[in-house]
Amino acid sequence: MTTDAADAFAAAYGDSPDGVWAAPGRINVIGEHTDYNEGFVLPAALPQTTRVAARRRTDGRIRLTSVQGDCRVAELLLAELAPGAVPGWAAYPAGVFWALAQAGHPVGGADLAFSSDVPTGAGLSSSAALECATAIALDELFALGLDAPARALLAQRAENDFVGVPCGALDQMASSCCVAGHAFFLDTRTLTGRQVPLDLPAVGLSLLVIDTRVKHDLGDGAYAALRAGCERAAELLGVRALRDVGIGELAAAEQQLPAELRPLLRHVVTEDQRVLDAIRLLDAGEPRGLGPVLTAGHASLRDDYRVSCPETDLAVSAANAAGALGARMMGGGFGGSVLALVDTDRLEAVERAVRAAFAGAGFTDPFVFPAVPSQGAHRIA
Ligand code: ADP
Ligand code: MG
Repeated sequence: MTTDAADAFAAAYGDSPDGVWAAPGRINVIGEHTDYNEGFVLPAALPQTTRVAARRRTDGRIRLTSVQGDCRVAELLLAELAPGAVPGWAAYPAGVFWALAQAGHPVGGADLAFSSDVPTGAGLSSSAALECATAIALDELFALGLDAPARALLAQRAENDFVGVPCGALDQMASSCCVAGHAFFLDTRTLTGRQVPLDLPAVGLSLLVIDTRVKHDLGDGAYAALRAGCERAAELLGVRALRDVGIGELAAAEQQLPAELRPLLRHVVTEDQRVLDAIRLLDAGEPRGLGPVLTAGHASLRDDYRVSCPETDLAVSAANAAGALGARMMGGGFGGSVLALVDTDRLEAVERAVRAAFAGAGFTDPFVFPAVPSQGAHRIA
């Protein structure tokens, strides 16, 4: 099989790779801003993947190139990798080499060439796809014998400690562990999960991703402030994390917090409950019931967590007005993508309505595509 990554490999290194691997981007059906509160998430893998063509080296050298990273080749030495030492996109794959070496795995150098159709910076986890593709390639090239969750946690370590992005485990666990036709219910405290059937085509439903293609700048600082607010609330309530506050204890717990922390608590506790509600609906064979759960999740992110923005609010309201069963923003917030649950025969009408609403508001035309729950990281050639 020839792949675009193998072509990029041949163009950069003038030879053929030992193998080609792919890792997907992801959606998150429900469970937003719960992962750093040790709560629940329900991601599913996208059909869009990052492919890596890779060849093992024995001299400790690392060469990296990406079609999306302007095709220049970054050259590094495994022994010299250190957090902060690698600029730009190459830090994500370099961080995976570093995390593997730090954990004592006998990884060596390698030549890697990437190509991807995962939209970047859209809340669909292109960064995790890049890391998880690297992790599975190195695992197999060096016969490390890791399983999917172990690769995910090393990829998360790369992003946290090498790239310097304080993300939870959601993105990497999803990209590594998801199974086609399923969502992946993950408890981010225990890092245990289970596959939940999400065969929407069988019941005439589709999940539609609306990438607003905007990212408002206040994002990064706001994320840190929200995390700090949640930690402070947990401390004041005397619990390890907000996950420990049950839905039945919510009203009493709110009374123990200063006014500015109450909405954060409300979002996290009700969002964990929405994940459990979603699982119950899916297990009961009632996927249509997910619609109102998504829309309630959006209202909570907009009104309590306050991470929505005009573009995501408009995508949700326009989709619902055009007959979607429900919709919500995904990801950290301040832009990124919206997920809508739609009767398959209404897909085109919903897409048209959202694009018309965006045009009317003077917003950038969104990138709209259906998300079919797909396979986690795997070898393709
Ligand atoms: P998200 O993970 O939501 O897409 P991030 O900001 O976490 O957004 O990661 C996006 C960054 O990851 C890009 O700016 C780029 O540095 C890097 N990246 C992702 N995919 C690729 C790729 N195929 N080639 C080069 N860099 C990539
Ligand atoms: Mg990311």
